[in-house]
Amino acid sequence: MDKHKILQQVDRFEARRAKYAPVLAGLSPLYPPLIWRKENSALDILLLTILSASTTDQNSGQAFRNLQQRYPSYEAILNAPLADLVETVRVAGLANQKAPRLQRVLQRVFDERGEFDLEFLGELPAEEARAWLTSIDGIGLKTASIVISFGFNGAAFPVDTHINRVCQRIGFTPAGTQPEKAHTILEAMIPAHDYFSFHMQIIAHGRKICHARKPQCAQCPLTAWCDYYQNGDAQNPDA
Ligand code: SF4
Repeated sequence: MDKHKILQQVDRFEARRAKYAPVLAGLSPLYPPLIWRKENSALDILLLTILSASTTDQNSGQAFRNLQQRYPSYEAILNAPLADLVETVRVAGLANQKAPRLQRVLQRVFDERGEFDLEFLGELPAEEARAWLTSIDGIGLKTASIVISFGFNGAAFPVDTHINRVCQRIGFTPAGTQPEKAHTILEAMIPAHDYFSFHMQIIAHGRKICHARKPQCAQCPLTAWCDYYQNGDAQNPDA
């Protein structure tokens, strides 16, 4: 759906957006804003993100290290026998899906660029970079946004299930908003220069306090701005 239509359909958009400043102020003492640094190549971030689906950071990190130890180059990953690659990344789970996806992505990058390198995406506007990445079979909005944000500190706010949960509870997005639409809504609410640091703050808050099953509202600095708390849902977390 068109971006403007998505935003027009959000009820109380301005009231939701007004939560941003106090929420940021509430989170920052707990999770000081991180400054983005280039730590990995965009292609490594893409491969790592593919491995990270439906598993822990620990397992996907181990699978990525296994890849690096087993294969000396991207080309070697691309040309590896599939069964061998599946075994190498098995610790990440869903290895029968993830291994061929790694090879498809590497093949597409090489076919399009003639090399195994995605750094050119950092020169493009975020929307163009995202369109390029999501044109690859199996790469969705979340993965593309992670590459742009973590790879280049670009203007993309990645929304995974944890970000989506916390942002819905606070009320940045309406209840039931799907992650695809949440990208559009949150990117319109949050200043672009805060995308990376605010993403990391919300992830940390979801891990430490605003847990999926039982949010620890009594320890949370956001109660005054949180719809979930203000609506009394904290008394009845199964509601
Ligand atoms: S008040 Fe509760 S539901 Fe709201 S953000 Fe804090 S922990 Fe999450």
